[in-house]
Amino acid sequence: MKHSFSNELSGSGSDGAPRPKAPHPSTGRRKLANRFRRLWLATVAPFHKSIHVRFRYVFAIAVMGLVLMAAIAFISSRTLLTTYENSVQEMRVEMMSMERFQGSLRDANRLAFLHAIDGDQSAPERFEEISEAVDGQIEHATKAEAGRASDHHIHSNIALSIFAPTWENTKAAARSVFQHTPGTPEAIEALRRVQAVTDSANDAFSEFHHSSLQDVYRHLEAAQRVGVNALFAMFGGIVAGGALLIVLGVFVGRSVLHPIAELHRAAGKLGKKDFSHRVMLRNTSDELGQLGKAFNLAATALQRLYRELERRSTHDNLTDILNRAGFDERLAAECENTKRTGRGLALLLVDIDFFKRVNDIHGHQAGDEALQVVAQLLEEATRPGDIVARYGGEEFAIILPDTDEASAMAMAERLRFNIEAANIDCGIDEDIGVTVSIGCASQLSDMMTPEDFIRYADVALYAAKDAGRNRVVSAQRGQLTHGLDQQPDAA
Ligand code: GH3
Ligand code: MG
Ligand code: MG
Repeated sequence: MKHSFSNELSGSGSDGAPRPKAPHPSTGRRKLANRFRRLWLATVAPFHKSIHVRFRYVFAIAVMGLVLMAAIAFISSRTLLTTYENSVQEMRVEMMSMERFQGSLRDANRLAFLHAIDGDQSAPERFEEISEAVDGQIEHATKAEAGRASDHHIHSNIALSIFAPTWENTKAAARSVFQHTPGTPEAIEALRRVQAVTDSANDAFSEFHHSSLQDVYRHLEAAQRVGVNALFAMFGGIVAGGALLIVLGVFVGRSVLHPIAELHRAAGKLGKKDFSHRVMLRNTSDELGQLGKAFNLAATALQRLYRELERRSTHDNLTDILNRAGFDERLAAECENTKRTGRGLALLLVDIDFFKRVNDIHGHQAGDEALQVVAQLLEEATRPGDIVARYGGEEFAIILPDTDEASAMAMAERLRFNIEAANIDCGIDEDIGVTVSIGCASQLSDMMTPEDFIRYADVALYAAKDAGRNRVVSAQRGQLTHGLDQQPDAA
C-alpha cells in the first residue's frame, strides 16, 4: 500500500480545506544568508580568485569615478549658469519696468509743461490716453507681482510700490494743471507741483536703482558661492575618488607584485639548483597562486629527479653502492682530509677470482646476483665510516679512513675470509662460493695522491693474483701477508 504525504505536506485541516502554512522562522534567515552567499560569490569571491576580475573592478571604479566627476561638474556648471541667468534676467526686467515708469513720468511732466507754458490744447487729451495706458500697466504689473511670491522679484514690487502712488500724485497734479488756463500763475504753480512729484519719484527711482545694483551684486556673490561650493564638491570627489583608486591600486598592485617577486625569487633559487625552495603565497586561488602551486609541484619533481640523477651519477645500478665516479670523488676528498689531519688512510682493491667461470657456468643472471651479494658482504663487514665502491666489473674498492696498514690488512683478511666462507644464493638450485684477491695500499707519506693509492693497491692485487688468488697482499710490504690456509686472526 502506498503512503501519501500530500495531506501532511499541504497542511489541510480535518475538513480538507487547505490551511495556510506559517513559515519556519529559520527559513527566512537561511534565505537571507543564501542571498548574501550568492552576492558574495558573484562579487567578492571572483575578486579574490582572479587578477583579471581585480583589474576589471579597478577599471570600472575608475570609470565610475570619472562619470561621477563629470556629473558633478555638469550639475555645478548648470546651477552656476542658471543663477547668473536669473540674476541678469531679473536685472533686465527691473530696469525695463523702471525705464517705462520713468518714461511715463517724463510724458506727464512734458504734457503738463506743454499745456501750462505753450498752451497746447491737445495735451490734456493726450495725457488721459497715456494715463489710461499707464493705469493698465500698473494693474497688469500688480496682478503679475501678486502671482510671484518669490523674494527674487522683490525689486519689481519696489519699483511698482514707488511708482503706483507717485503716479496717482502725478495724475492729480497734471490734471490740476489742465484745469488752469495756460500761462496763469495757478497753472505755473500746478506745473511746479507736477515737477516736484516727478522729481521726488525720480529720486526714489535712483535710490531703487542703487539698491537694485546692490542686489545684483548679492546675486553674483551667491552665484560665486555656488561656484566655490561646486569646486569644493568636485575637488572632494576627485580626492575621494583618487584615494579610493590609490587604495585599490596598492591592494591590487601588492596582490600581483608580491607573488611575482616571490616567483622571481623562487626561479632564481631554482637557477642556482636550490630545489628545496618553495613559493609561499598568501593567496593560492588566483592565477599567480595557481602558478605558485604549479611551480612548487615542478620544484618537488625536479628535486626528486635531481637527487635521483645525482645518486645515479655516483652509485652503481646493480649493487647500489658507490660507482667509479663516486669512488674517485670520495678518495680525493679522503686524501685531502688525510693531508690536513695527518691520520692514516688505506685502500683495498678487491677482485673476485675466476669470476668469468661463474658467468660461464651459472649464467650472467647468477653472476649479477653474486656481485650484489659480495657487495652486501663487503658493506656488512666494514665499519660505518668506511667507503665501499664498485670499481668496475667484478672489482671492488674500499676506502678505510683513519686506518694504518696493520688494521687495513686485518680488515682485508676478514673480508676475504667472510667471502670465502659465504654460501652465495644466486637464485639457482645450489648456492655457490667465490673467493677474492685483495690488494692493500696504506699511506706511506703525506704526499700520496689518489692515483698513488690506486696504483699501489693495483700492484698488490696483481701480486695476490699472481701468487695464486684468494689472498691479501700489502703494497708496502710487497709480499703475501696471509696464505690460503691461514685464519685472519693469525695475521
Ligand atoms: P681473475 O681471477 O683473473 O680475476 O679472473 P676473472 O675471470 O675474474 O677475470 P676476467 O677479467 O677474465 O673476467 C672478468 C669477468 O667478470 C668477465 C665479465 O663477464 C665478468 N663481469 C664483469 N662485470 C660483470 C657484471 O656486471 N655482471 C656479470 N654477470 N659479470 C660481469
Ligand atoms: Mg678483474
Ligand atoms: Mg676477477
